[in-house]
This record gives sequence, structure tokens and C-alpha cells, in this order.
Amino acid sequence: MNVRSRFSVCLAILIALAAVCAPTPSIQAQTHGVSGQAVYKLTQEYLAAAPKRYIGSPGHAAAENFIKAHFAPEATKGNFIADNFSARTPIGQLSMTNYIVKFPGKKDGVIVLASHYETNYPLKDINFVGANDGACTTALLIALGQYYRTHPPQGYSVWLVFDDGEEAVKEWSNSDSLYGTRHLAAKWSGDGTIGHIKAFIVADMIGWKSMNITKESNSTPWLLDVLAKAGKDTGHVSYLFRDSQAIEDDHLPFKQRDVPVLDIIDYEYGTPKDPEAFHHTEKDTIDKLSPASLQVSADLFLDVIKLIDQH
Ligand code: ZN
Repeated sequence: MNVRSRFSVCLAILIALAAVCAPTPSIQAQTHGVSGQAVYKLTQEYLAAAPKRYIGSPGHAAAENFIKAHFAPEATKGNFIADNFSARTPIGQLSMTNYIVKFPGKKDGVIVLASHYETNYPLKDINFVGANDGACTTALLIALGQYYRTHPPQGYSVWLVFDDGEEAVKEWSNSDSLYGTRHLAAKWSGDGTIGHIKAFIVADMIGWKSMNITKESNSTPWLLDVLAKAGKDTGHVSYLFRDSQAIEDDHLPFKQRDVPVLDIIDYEYGTPKDPEAFHHTEKDTIDKLSPASLQVSADLFLDVIKLIDQH
């Protein structure tokens, strides 16, 4: 993921102030469909199974196996699909795979929830594990899948997309990034699937202890309103919209095809002095995350889906 606009000085001051005043994450007295503690545990397990997951590595294969192993019931029903493709990258053709898991609903239409599951290729030679960047959102999607397995969608169908090749292979550009979702958007345009998608929602870096979700301005305005409403519904409004930025992320190939999109992302991931201190560094480790923040993210996702069903 990449950021296009920065409000550096003002933002740094605002963040410094916000860090002083920020509430510690609290869990509301309510029933949670998905447990933040369970998402945290799944993140630990995913990191243990596949700490480094750059394309072509044994860890990438382990990540694929981890995802597959959690959807055996869907695979037996034909609702777990491996979408293999070959992508032209600055280092040559690379094989990549998106995984799609379908939970059929009662209304015509699909809400897609997506997260990339690989780690950044250019960081393959440092100890980069992407606890916040890729791992916790893969865990969040697995946990949401476990929820929909026992609580089948009553509105639109819910599809999970574990996409590959979100990160640049060499350096971020329009052609070196978002390989998985560019492939999927083109494929689903070709076969007509795209016309059924009511919303394409991305989860990215939303497990940090001091998480605050960015107001991401490439997202569709009515879906940003839905996220704001979900913040009120769940009592998590203080975790939303401290900063506002346009971010290039997995939603763009779908936005370009007029699908309503929402990027649920906390771009600022670091210290008040350096809001990106942990992003794409060896410091992006599990100790930076908290079950409380993952609870907020899980609550927001479930409520956003409920609100889109009513939209
Ligand atoms: Zn990244």
C-alpha cells in the first residue's frame, strides 16, 4: 500500500496531541460475533507457521496451506477457490494465487472482504514478518469466515478474498503493485461477477495497540459514512478518522471499475514522533498489536456488513 498525499507537519502535531489524549482501547459490554482475542491468537499461529511470506518462498507456501486448512468445510462444498495466475513483474513472471471463500446469502449481491496475505518482496532479506501488515488481517478474515460458517449471511453473500501480490516486487508503481486484485478485478469483469459486487472492502494494518483508522479518501463516500455509523453503533468512534489520506491499496482496481470500495486501514503505524516508524520494518511484530484493537476491527467489520445489507 502506498500513500499519495501527506499533511506532514500538521499531522505530526495532531498525532502528538492525540497520542497524549488517546483513550486506551476498551471493550464495550456487548456480545461480540468475533473475538479480538481469537483473532490475536490466530495472528500468532499464522506468524509461527509463516513468518516470512514473500512470493516464491517456503513461508508463502506455508501461508497458503494455513489459509486452506481453515476452510476445509467450505472446500467440500465447492466454496473455496484457488485463483492461480502468472504476473509479469520487474524480476520476471511470478506465479501468484488469490483464495476466495464464499458464504452464500439470501439476497442477490455480494460483499467482498479482502486482505493481502503475503509479505513485501523487497524486504525478504531482513527479518520482516508483517504482523500488522498482512498477518492480522488474514487472521481477521479467517475469524470472520468462522463466524459466517455458523451464522450464514441473511442478506448479501459474503466472500472473503485472500489476495496475493499486493506489495510491490521492486518499487511501488501502477504496474508494480496490487497484482492479485488487478488480476481478480479483470477476471470478474470478464465473467460478469463484478456486476454483483455491492461493496469491496479491504482490511489492512488494523491491529496496532494505538490503532486509529484513516479516513481513506479513495474510498466511496457512502461507504465512509457507513463506517462512521458503524463506529457509533459499536461505541468505537474514537478509533476512527484521526487522519485523512488517499491511499493506493487493494481497493483501487475495483474502484476503477465503478465498484463501491472501502479501505479500512490505519496508515499511521509508529510513534507520535514518527507515525510510520513500524511500517515495512523489522519492528512490525506481534508485540505492537493488541486483542482490544482487533476487537474494534472485528466489531466494525461485522457492523459495516450489517449496515450495507440494510442500505
Ligand atoms: Zn506493506
